[in-house]
Amino acid sequence: MKLTEIGEFGFIERFAHKFEDLLTPNAMGIGDDCAILPAGDDFDLVFTTDMLVEDIHFLRDKISPLDLGHKSLAVNLSDVAAMGAEPVGSFLSIAIPNTIDVEYLDSLMEGYHQLSEKYKLPLMGGDTTRSPYKLVLNISVVGKIAKGRAKLRKAAMVGDVVAVTGSLGDSAAGLHALMNDFKTDDTVQLLINRHHRPEAHVSEGIWLGNRPAVHAMMDVSDGIASDLMHILRASGKSATIKMEQLPLSGQLLRMTESHHLNPYELATSGGEDYCLLLTVAADRFEQTADNFQQSFGRPLHAIGRIEAGEPSIQWTLNGTATDNPKGGFNHFSG
Ligand SMILES: [Mg+2]
Repeated sequence: MKLTEIGEFGFIERFAHKFEDLLTPNAMGIGDDCAILPAGDDFDLVFTTDMLVEDIHFLRDKISPLDLGHKSLAVNLSDVAAMGAEPVGSFLSIAIPNTIDVEYLDSLMEGYHQLSEKYKLPLMGGDTTRSPYKLVLNISVVGKIAKGRAKLRKAAMVGDVVAVTGSLGDSAAGLHALMNDFKTDDTVQLLINRHHRPEAHVSEGIWLGNRPAVHAMMDVSDGIASDLMHILRASGKSATIKMEQLPLSGQLLRMTESHHLNPYELATSGGEDYCLLLTVAADRFEQTADNFQQSFGRPLHAIGRIEAGEPSIQWTLNGTATDNPKGGFNHFSG
C-alpha cells in the first residue's frame, strides 16, 4: 500500500492508539498541538516537534537561510502558543548535505537566534549529522503552563464563537507568488514576507490561555478548512463559518484581484498562517474581543459558530450556503 492512499493522518491512526495505555495519569500524547506532561503541583510541561525537509517544506533557492532559521522555530512556537503555554526552551537537530557551506549555516542560526532572543528562549541541545542530498531541520520546543490549563482541541462547546487572531491567506498567496515567479512589487513582497517570516502568536496564546472563556484552541498550519475539522472531530461538534467574516488583508485582496485568484480559497485552504484558531463562550466573546483589542491593538476576528452535529463545516457567504473550498494541505497527497 502506498502512503498516498491513507495520507499523513491515516498513517498516524495506525499506531497512535497503541501508545495511549502507556501514558501516565494526566499526561496527553498524540493528537493535539503539543503533548502534555505533568511537572509538579503547579505546572504542566508541553512538548512539540516539527520537521522541515528541503523540497517538501521549503526550496533552498527561494528562502534565505536567515528566514529559514526564523521560520523553522516560529512554526514550533506556534504550536506551544496554541496550548496557551509559554515557551521555555528549544532543541534543534539538523542533517546537512555537503552542498551547504558554513556561511549558510551561520545565517540560518542567526535567524534562529534572533527569534529565540525575542522570547528569551534558550537553544538547549540537539544533533547534527551529514545528509546525502537534502537539508533537514527538526525542532522541538518545550513550554510550561499552569496545571490543567492547557487549551485542548476537544473543548469546543455548542454555541461557541469560532475566532482567529490574525488574517488568513497571506502566506499561501506569498507561496503562490513565489512558485509562479510573480513580479515582486510591494504587495507581493509583503505576502512573500508573511510566508517566509511567520509571526507565531506567542503572547496572544499565553493571554488567551489565561481566559476560561476560551475553550478549544489550535494554530492555523494547514488552513482553517482542515484545521477546524481537527477541533470539530475532537469535540464531536459541527460549525458554520461565514466567509464574509474571514479576515482578508488588503495585500491579499489586491494580489488576488490583479491575478484573478480566489482569496477565499487561499484563506481557507492555503495554510501556514500560524495565527490561532479558537472557540470562545458566546456570552463572553464581546468582552474577550474588546480586551484582546486593548492588549494587542488589533481585533480578535469572529468567523463562525460551533453547533451540534456530526463533525463538518457549513460555509455560508452573506447568509447563503456555499461550496466547501478545497481541503487542507496534505504532505503526502503528491
Ligand atoms: Mg498545530
